[in-house]
Amino acid sequence: MHVIFVGPPGVGKGTQAHRLVGELEVVHLSTGEILRAAMDEQSPLGVEAKQYVEQGKLVPDHLIVDMIGERLNRPDCEVGWLLDGFPRNVSQARALDAMLAEQGRRIDLVLALTAPVEELKKRLLKRAEIEGRADDNPTTIAQRLVVYEQQTAPVLDYYRRQSLLQEVDGLGSPDAVFDRIRRAMDADRQQG
Ligand code: AMP
Repeated sequence: MHVIFVGPPGVGKGTQAHRLVGELEVVHLSTGEILRAAMDEQSPLGVEAKQYVEQGKLVPDHLIVDMIGERLNRPDCEVGWLLDGFPRNVSQARALDAMLAEQGRRIDLVLALTAPVEELKKRLLKRAEIEGRADDNPTTIAQRLVVYEQQTAPVLDYYRRQSLLQEVDGLGSPDAVFDRIRRAMDADRQQG
């Protein structure tokens, strides 16, 4: 199974993605997590990405597309994958389509988690206190929400037009949200 998980920062995407990969038994590919690991290791990618991540901006497409392209070609991806945090704009979505066409694979489903912007801000500020992520400060949070609206929201339309999109309400407890995700997946299977 090949699933894409989209959602604004703070919607609980990471938490739900971890649960879902456990259930689907696919590989979890989070571009944010890969970038944070690269930054910790100070690899060339990490060094280059750091300035963008710390400003809440998107890392340039060519870096991300090369990184994910290399990752998708590894043998462990043969069991299927869940992409978390990629694609973040329409040009990344097109690049992914081209890579998948080459591999003879296709996307089964795009899950989009949604929540009102005020709730997202509240959650991100709380996470900042707990996790101490360098990009969870008020200025960067505002910037990441703008980037989501301007660049990532159009990705939803891109997949809606291909009838791949299922939207899921991200409000409520993690268990409640996960139940909705399960139902969205069942609904999709019945439609498909
Ligand atoms: P995330 O953990 O998904 O919220 O990502 C954290 C940060 O990593 C983002 O604010 C971006 O700076 C960067 N990032 C993650 N995924 C991508 C992507 N697909 N394209 C560009 N930048 C990304």
